[in-house]
Amino acid sequence: MTSTDNTTTPSETAQTENGHLLDALDPQLNRWLQDRGLPGYRGKQIRQWLFQQRAANWDAMSDLPQKLRRALAADLPLWQSRILRHIRAADGTEKLLLALSRGGQIECVLLRDRVRRTICISTQVGCGMGCVFCASGLDGVERNLSSGEIVEQMLRLQQLLETEERLSHVVVMGMGELLANLEALLPALAEAHRADGLGISTRRITISTVGLPAAIDRLAGSQPHYRLALSLHAPNDALRRQLVPAGQPLQTLLAAADRYFAVSGRRMTFEYVLLADINDQPDHARQLAHLLGRREALLNVIPYNPVAGLPYRTPSTARQQTFQRILTAAGLRVQFRHRKGSRINAACGQLRRAAGGRYRLSSN
Ligand code: SAH
Repeated sequence: MTSTDNTTTPSETAQTENGHLLDALDPQLNRWLQDRGLPGYRGKQIRQWLFQQRAANWDAMSDLPQKLRRALAADLPLWQSRILRHIRAADGTEKLLLALSRGGQIECVLLRDRVRRTICISTQVGCGMGCVFCASGLDGVERNLSSGEIVEQMLRLQQLLETEERLSHVVVMGMGELLANLEALLPALAEAHRADGLGISTRRITISTVGLPAAIDRLAGSQPHYRLALSLHAPNDALRRQLVPAGQPLQTLLAAADRYFAVSGRRMTFEYVLLADINDQPDHARQLAHLLGRREALLNVIPYNPVAGLPYRTPSTARQQTFQRILTAAGLRVQFRHRKGSRINAACGQLRRAAGGRYRLSSN
């Protein structure tokens, strides 16, 4: 693992009066160009530099006149975060800890898996859902991120790729509860999907939520439809209330999930964090199989990634295998997700806490 303290130039990260350039790239660029009597095609060129050619600053946009680049750099800061930590793990996972100029720290991750290049992004500083085992929510939610702050994570992660690598997937599984910040998330995902944005198919964009039924219905009613992953973590309401205190009753949640599936045709994913001695017993597996019934769903089981200071543990391999066997025998599609980058605190919120001095970052 290597770690660098990064070197973003301060002039590229200052705050603009009108918020973030990436909150609304096209209208802001067009207005700036128009005010100076400059041709509109420059806007398209700049978009191409940012999203396709992975430019890290205005100066890299080498087919723009020098004078224009200098004027853009003076007027329109591209970035509103500073890279506090950049950590690379041996398995190819890279993680950024960003300090935002509007305040707060967030994390985002690049995962490499064969030809897949997946980025995992955050939607809030902290999280208000209070899932008892999760590092992100331990101090509650500070604020929602803006669209620009979400797009910025995508671009900064894309800049970590080698020239021959291509971004293939986006997962919104970082810090925060995205259904509490759809206002900012949806325009940001539109940039991920647009052909002249990151150009990623909606089937390869997954948003993960504890499930707020009204917000799921709002998503069902808007276009386009992304893949939805629901964080279940418990097969019955009593246990779920303990683990996911902000959660809704399971039947209400599954009904909203079914409505989303009916209009989107997107296969549902359910996530289940496996916590030793809490939700990992054979009976939990049987209840879960019964709960999900005949749904066309994928069940993503995530063996717990321990968080310093919290009492939860990862189940033994034997326990994990029994759990998997029962679900598979019941006809469910089950995938065990062994978290990548666990050596670099890749589970959401962990690096931020480590950097806050609550515990020392392990290194190898
Ligand atoms: N708010 C969203 C995104 C959270 S992160 C949600 O709740 O879905 C994505 C997934 O990782 C969630 O299912 C979350 O519960 C799970 N998770 C959080 N901390 C974890 C940890 N330490 N180990 C394993 N999974 C964890």
